[in-house]
Amino acid sequence: MAHFDSLCARETEDLRTTKPHILPLYLTSSFVFDSIDQGIRIFGKEENGHVYSRYANPTCDSVAEKLSLMESFGTGVESHAMMFSSGMAAIHTLAMTLLRSGDQVLTQGNLYGGTTELFTKVMSRCGIETIMTDLTDLNEAERILSKPSSIKLVYFETPANPTLSCIDLEAVCNLAKLHGIPVAVDNTFATPYLQQPLTYGADFVIHSTTKYLNGHGNSIAGVLIGRDKELMKTKVWETMKLIGTNVSPMEAWLVAQGLKTLPLRMERHSSNAMKLAEFLVNHPRVSVVNYTGLPSHPYHQLASKQMRAHGGMLSFELEGGIEAGITAMRKIRFCILAPTLGDIDTLILHPASMSHRSIPGDIRERNGITDGLIRVSVGIENIHDIIDDIDQAIS
Ligand SMILES: *Cc1c(COP(=O)(O)O)cnc(C)c1O
Repeated sequence: MAHFDSLCARETEDLRTTKPHILPLYLTSSFVFDSIDQGIRIFGKEENGHVYSRYANPTCDSVAEKLSLMESFGTGVESHAMMFSSGMAAIHTLAMTLLRSGDQVLTQGNLYGGTTELFTKVMSRCGIETIMTDLTDLNEAERILSKPSSIKLVYFETPANPTLSCIDLEAVCNLAKLHGIPVAVDNTFATPYLQQPLTYGADFVIHSTTKYLNGHGNSIAGVLIGRDKELMKTKVWETMKLIGTNVSPMEAWLVAQGLKTLPLRMERHSSNAMKLAEFLVNHPRVSVVNYTGLPSHPYHQLASKQMRAHGGMLSFELEGGIEAGITAMRKIRFCILAPTLGDIDTLILHPASMSHRSIPGDIRERNGITDGLIRVSVGIENIHDIIDDIDQAIS
């Protein structure tokens, strides 16, 4: 190097000798071709190669591949996955790939709030109509699907927020298949450790990896897993690269750390949630406990059929409405007041005064978000600390 300023400006040499134990973080926007001939072959798709990190990045590809293997593990189904900058970006990219003006989406009324708004506020501007129905009612779903319509996607979540109502994966997938309509399932609450929608015929599985898959609350990202590998690698990939919904390598890398302990965490989330639910059922201030692990929950049987365990999410109804909810939240000492879920630590939320305060009371009630409802993402701490804190706060 003839000049000092050129030396400073040039890339630091990669002195890697032996293979790193942990997946390297490739924070690079582009990749270098050995020669013009290699560049021509890669651009011409005759040779595999990374080009530009909006198209694909080795760190992101590795984590997506692991997520694909996890979601299809033991199902006999092959799949291909891509990561996105958020769960919302994964949903948006899928919708922009499959739907066009005049098409309809069939979904449920109690979707994750952001997804409801994406469909009703953003997708509607592209001429895509959203039909919301109660997908736990199979007769109603069949009635809608049997009529002539422009439904091009069935989209749902199970278990759903905040009452943990469950949709029959097998029944809805079969029904949609009968009418040739693809099914996408948001599996964020369950994770592939507890539930694998591909087994039941789902065409796409979506996660906000921000939640349980990362588990440590330090990255926002999403993943889309599809059983049509060709479609994923062509049309879905093309949409992703053109609207720029790709994940950042840093965020993907953080997800990779969380994946290693997913089974351990989900077992502990589930057993802690079961103990908290059993405690709350007998509490004099609590009128309802929503946890599918309880035999009294209306979806206990269905959840037991399609899930390996019941997960870490529960909600309960405090007698005394809004005031009781706010008072309890003021007294919380150990649990964390934060509007997310799926982290290591216990997170608690009073939807009526926090996340859902701008939604009119009657619409809230219709979706099970009553004034005294408290949602808990039960963490993996010692269960006695969780129970003691909630007990003192609601007593
Ligand atoms: C959080 C969440 C999303 C959105 O994911 P982001 O990563 O926040 O974009 C979608 N679906 C469910 C069920 C969620 O909990």
